[in-house]
Amino acid sequence: MTEGELAGETVALAEALIRVDTSNPPGRETAAAELIRDWLAARGIESELVGPDPDRLNLVSRIEGTGDAPSLMLMAHTDVVPAPTENWTVPPFDAVNRDGWLIGRGAVDMKNELAARVAAFAAFAASGVTPGGDLVLIAEADEERNVSDVGMSWLVRERPDLLCDFALNEGGGFLLELASGSTVVPISIGEKKVTSVLLRIRGASAHASVPDREKNAVRDAARAVDRLFAHETPVLVSESVRESLRAIGAAGSDEEMLAWAAGQHPVLEKMVPAMTRMSVTPTGLATREPANVVPPVVEIVCDCRALPGQDERDVRAHLEAALGNDIEWEMELLEPMEGGEESAVGTALYRACEDFLAERLPGAVLMPMVTAGFTDSHWVRQAGGTVAYGFAPVFATEVGEYLRSMHGADEKIRIDDLVTMAEFHLYAIKRMLAD
Ligand SMILES: [Zn+2]
Repeated sequence: MTEGELAGETVALAEALIRVDTSNPPGRETAAAELIRDWLAARGIESELVGPDPDRLNLVSRIEGTGDAPSLMLMAHTDVVPAPTENWTVPPFDAVNRDGWLIGRGAVDMKNELAARVAAFAAFAASGVTPGGDLVLIAEADEERNVSDVGMSWLVRERPDLLCDFALNEGGGFLLELASGSTVVPISIGEKKVTSVLLRIRGASAHASVPDREKNAVRDAARAVDRLFAHETPVLVSESVRESLRAIGAAGSDEEMLAWAAGQHPVLEKMVPAMTRMSVTPTGLATREPANVVPPVVEIVCDCRALPGQDERDVRAHLEAALGNDIEWEMELLEPMEGGEESAVGTALYRACEDFLAERLPGAVLMPMVTAGFTDSHWVRQAGGTVAYGFAPVFATEVGEYLRSMHGADEKIRIDDLVTMAEFHLYAIKRMLAD
């Protein structure tokens, strides 16, 4: 296959995938998995559709290796977030290809990367080379909500045979031009831990016509929400964050490095605090009583993102510091804290990413980062000890546009980036499995 053919196939596949509406909920990712199955079959490649829900199947395919090299997984989720049409200038599931842009739900997150990985997988198969290690392709369902246990959480449990030494997934690869003049490309090596916290604020139940203002749980809940938003979370700088900051040119004490990095780029200004602080963010409030009763309890639901290494005790300490001691509260984790693993830097796959960068963007620096969001990399890191990176080159689409349109209206990517993504994956496969 020529480079031109790889480019053409990637773009056509991305368009076809965007036209399959896999908005989650409800997902219905089987249609996307079938499209990929048929696309691979037309190129002589077998695949399987697997999963516990017939409407939400995952696609898996494997090119078996000789066992002389570590194995590599290419992973991408097939679901997308819903696209309320009000704010779009084109129909979100038409996959409009215009003026060098591909526009549609999933163009950034992540039918772009899905298409690039599938096309590179097929191009490698077409080369006829037997890889040193297994090459595994996974197109998984239900990443965006991750509540149904039909996607990667199910796969790592029910199909551990698919787990690999290395994996490439979403989460990095965009380009940051720093104020210092250097060019930095983040690669995601880990994720914050995620959970939700239920806070119960207690007061005295009373008839609302004669309220006791001192012991009113609604009033205390309002205070608690206010204090949670106002709380200055202590900064924690791990050794891996320190290494990241040094990699992009920061120097001096932790404080100096953090301040320097935050001033280097608007994206870093948000990313650096996320990498160094726990966040507990109120996202819901509820009571159970009718309007004429002052409720004895108000429930506050919070999204919680903790740093690698932190646990429930750290969440409690955060709440104690934020809420003070004049509010009566108790906490419950609504789900176990997931995530928090980090993959090592400097591995063979890391070097392959660095070398691709050196070839395409001489002088640019790869910056390891811990992402605030959650991705399916968590499952393979946790189940298989897989070294998983979030990396797919986005060198042409301006980073502000790229991040804004992710989950937003008029989601779009430069066609040039789709092509670079496919070329990168073919390069990485060859470097890891066929060198
Ligand atoms: Zn995604």
